[in-house]
Amino acid sequence: MNLTDLYDKGFAQSLKFMAKRVKQMEEELYCPYSLTGVAAAVTAALGVEAPQNAAPPVEPLKKLLEAEPVDRVVLYNPDAVALWLFEKYTPVFLPVMENARLTLPLQSVMPSVTPVCFATMYTGALPEVHGIKAYRKPVVKTDSVFDALLRAGKRCAIVSVENASMSKIFLERDMDYFICATTREAHQKAAELIAQNEYDLLSVYDPDYDDAMHRCGPEGEGAMNALRSNAAAYAALAQCIREHKNGRRTLLGFAPDHGCHAIDGGGGSHGLMMPEDMNIVHFYTVI
Ligand SMILES: [Zn+2]
Repeated sequence: MNLTDLYDKGFAQSLKFMAKRVKQMEEELYCPYSLTGVAAAVTAALGVEAPQNAAPPVEPLKKLLEAEPVDRVVLYNPDAVALWLFEKYTPVFLPVMENARLTLPLQSVMPSVTPVCFATMYTGALPEVHGIKAYRKPVVKTDSVFDALLRAGKRCAIVSVENASMSKIFLERDMDYFICATTREAHQKAAELIAQNEYDLLSVYDPDYDDAMHRCGPEGEGAMNALRSNAAAYAALAQCIREHKNGRRTLLGFAPDHGCHAIDGGGGSHGLMMPEDMNIVHFYTVI
């Protein structure tokens, strides 16, 4: 075989690979509902005008809240829980499903990394509008759910862990931040705050699945344990709300930011325009 033949063979293989990839991309499915529609649904739930740049409320959540008015919102934000995890490991999600009136598949935004996606979830705006377009953690200046609620005299708090995006990107508001040393402490603080009934919106961030998934892969033992803990933490929040209703009707959400995929070497990652990273699933209930 001479050089020209080798070149032709290599070129033909490249074309074949590209054709296969194009076909794969054409067949990839992305959820039709967008993460941008959560912010306005949450503010509407509390009778407050949407953040200034928010997309319209996502329809299924809006309908749930029209049928079931609420006056308090608790959003549990487990990091990196993908839709495919729910499809493949459905029984792990049983504690979540038992506390869910609505199962809501959503498409996240690009790049599918934590600060970008949480900025979108809480502003209802795309990254080019809220300004976090890469893995950076500046304070978001764009109008957010927190700003909209604070303007209406509502009380908000974020419970998170040190150095996390959710501990940083919504700072500088007249609200309370409980930055805990461990996830376990964050869960305990959230339960305490629900019982004390001080807040109209409580956001509770949980980094554990994302941390473990990067280390040992999305289906590694540590990651699966973290996923089980996520489900248990959500169910515990539901139980806590039931035990401390304080005369209120609460929207509780299981609301991750983006998904994840396995990479060579046994780890996990996210950030790409691929169904594994972009498709997530939220669960909501009213208690
Ligand atoms: Zn994340």
